[in-house]
Parts: sequence; structure tokens; C-alpha cells
Amino acid sequence: MHADTLIHARWIIPVEPAGQVLENHSLAISNGRIQALLPTPQAREQLTATETLDLPGHALIPGLINAHTHTPMSLFRGMADDLPLMAWLEQHIWPAEQRWVSADFVADGSRLAMAEMIRSGTTCFNDMYFFPDVTGRVALETGMRAVLGMILIDFPSAWASDADGYLERALALHDAFRNESTIRAVFAPHAPYSVSDQPLQRVRTLANELDLPIHMHVHETRDEIAQSLEQYGKRPLARLQQLGLTGPDLIAVHMTQLQDAEIGEFAASGGHVVHCPESNLKLASGFCPVARLLDAGVNVALGTDGAASNNDLDMLGEMRSAGLLAKGVAADPEVLPAPKVLEMATINGAKALGLDAETGSLKPGKAADITAIDLQRIETLPVFDPVSQIVYSAGREQVSHVWVNGQMLLSAGELTSIHSGRLMRDIGIWQEKLREDS
Ligand SMILES: [Zn+2]
Repeated sequence: MHADTLIHARWIIPVEPAGQVLENHSLAISNGRIQALLPTPQAREQLTATETLDLPGHALIPGLINAHTHTPMSLFRGMADDLPLMAWLEQHIWPAEQRWVSADFVADGSRLAMAEMIRSGTTCFNDMYFFPDVTGRVALETGMRAVLGMILIDFPSAWASDADGYLERALALHDAFRNESTIRAVFAPHAPYSVSDQPLQRVRTLANELDLPIHMHVHETRDEIAQSLEQYGKRPLARLQQLGLTGPDLIAVHMTQLQDAEIGEFAASGGHVVHCPESNLKLASGFCPVARLLDAGVNVALGTDGAASNNDLDMLGEMRSAGLLAKGVAADPEVLPAPKVLEMATINGAKALGLDAETGSLKPGKAADITAIDLQRIETLPVFDPVSQIVYSAGREQVSHVWVNGQMLLSAGELTSIHSGRLMRDIGIWQEKLREDS
């Protein structure tokens, strides 16, 4: 048997089947897909390969899936910190967006975000921002797998001026990328407080027609609930339910404000939750009851949110925060053990995005979306349990190699599809331009 690429690794953590850790195993890639997983002595005997890589102290895991972010906002990183959500949005982010957002801004911000994500082991991200077509083109150029949110919001932007304009651009975006195997477009109405009833109903109709998921911020803060009660006389989830927005295709981000009955109803609807612990902590938005959602049978994925409210796109750090926070919130150190956290950052993200047939675990036949982490470093020794080291000890500088669809995007820590020097120069120019707003 011949492979395009053969990787000999100290550990392979496929995530499916759950809990499995393969020691001294090899992974073969052919035509961009995972061809086989087998013990290394057997691989050396039976397989030839165009390219062979020895990773003697590394663990291979499925590429990490950042299930909620706003990539272009990386250009706003550190611009306005230590504020509550609405003050942060209304006094800083929205005015800066009105002033600066353009196709060029989105191209450079997205590229900065993708460089950071690849360097920290992320292979796929679920985005929500203006000019998603530009982010899509940058994703094709960098090789990352991208889910592009077709944004919808009640106020005008450089991208569209009203609901008709946003939806028109959404359908054009969906059309433009429909034949790209690594890109998917999904509906992304911003939040219950920023999109009114009628456009939400139109999203539901279009999502049904096109069979596409709906990605939305839901129950992010206490203020959101209070405002909805005042304006609509009901909590946001109840309103979404009445509008027909809830269902197995809803990707609800944050969900920090949940009553017991809402957890049960949401579980029954089959919807997905994306937990963004660091953004929630930084904006003091509240705590997502992750352990209770998982107990109720809800699929919970993990995201960083944008770099303006985190302030990084580091999924290894996010896993650690999620693991620790869930224990604190539940007052129980046994909830959300390390393997469950890794599932949230991989297969659960793939399920939420409807991509689990393609990515999210290291299974023969799936796309070769793979991250290698070097555990033979002072910081992660000794290694009794590689999953524990990855979730609780490893830093993103230990990510050595990243593949998407079999294409190596990070080679021994070096980006292969993004010119780092040029990127840093471009961001320096933006820094000068944006400085007056910071
Ligand atoms: Zn967000």
C-alpha cells in the first residue's frame, strides 16, 4: 500500500472512539484523506510513502475546531478592554466598525486570525462578520476549513444596508462558495437583541429551503434577557422558539443565562451550544452551565469568540479555561474530564457545524485535518496521560504541525501558506491607522 504522507507518532488520539489513546502508531494520508491508522512497526513494514515524518514525542489529535469567532476583529485586539458587553459594543466596537470595516480590513484581519489559529492547532473555524466573501477567499488562500456566517443585523454596515441587502448578499455568498469542499456558508443572524422578528422569520424559511444551519449569539448576558422581557415580554429563547428559530440546526453561542426548563427544552429541540468561556469571563457575561447541558444531552462545542473580547484565538488555552470553569461552576471536580474537553474542541464542533462526516476525529475516510503537539518539552513532562497534558499543561507553542485536507499548513512551527513577514508588516500599517481610535 502506498500513502502520500505517513506520520509516525508517539501517540494518536482519534477522539472517536471516545477515550482511545493509541501509542506508537502511524497515520497514513492519501488524496487529502486519512487512509489508515496502524501500529508503527506494521506501518514501516507494509506502507511506502511519498513523504514520511517521524514525530517521536508528539501526539496527533484531530485539528481543533473553533466553533465561534469573528476573525477580522483580530485587528481590534486590545483596543477596548475591561468593559461590559453593551458599553464595549456601543461605545467602542460598533463605532470603530462603522469607521474602519472594509474588504481590505477584513482581508488583513482574517489573515492575521488564520495565522494565529493555524499556529495554535486550529484547522476549522466558524466565523461571523461583514464581508464573509473576503474571509472565504483568504481561507482558500491559507488552506483552512471555514464556515462563513452570512451575517444579518438590523443596522446598516459597509456590507449591506437593510435586511433585504443582507439576505441578498447571503444568497450570493452561498452560491459563490457552493463548490468549495473546505468552505461552507451558514446563516448568522447576529443576536436576538440586534435582529427583529421579520428578518428572523425569513432566515428560518431560507435555512429550511437551503438546508443550512443558523449561527447566533443567544442568552449572552443578563442585560439581554432584561431587554427582551421589556421589549417583547418574553425571554430571548422563548421568542426564538415562537419564531421557529430553535431546532437541530440552531448553533446557539454563549447561553450563559439558562433556567432549568430552558435547558430541558433546548435539549429536546436538538440544538447545539457553543461555549466561549474566556470571552464570557472577560466581559463578565455569566457562566454557561456546561456540565448540566451535557447531562441533558446537548451537544456543546467550544469557541474563542473574537480576539477583541478574549484576547486570543488559542483553542488549547480555551480548552483549559473550559475544563477549569465547568468544575468551578458545578462545584464538582469530576465534571468535564479532559477527554470530554477535547471532544468539545473537535468532534462536538464538527457536529454543531454539520461537518462530522468530514472532520472532527481521526477516522479513516475523513479529511486529513490533523494537529501534532510536541509533548517532549519541559512544560509537559512527564507524560502519564497525553490527553491530560494537552488539556491542562500544553501551550500553543508546542503545536508543531497542522494539516487540513492533507495539506501541511504548519511545518515544524512554520506557516507554509501565509508569509509571516508580509503579514506582520501589513498589520503594522493597520496599527498606525487604528491607533487614534484606541
Ligand atoms: Zn461572538
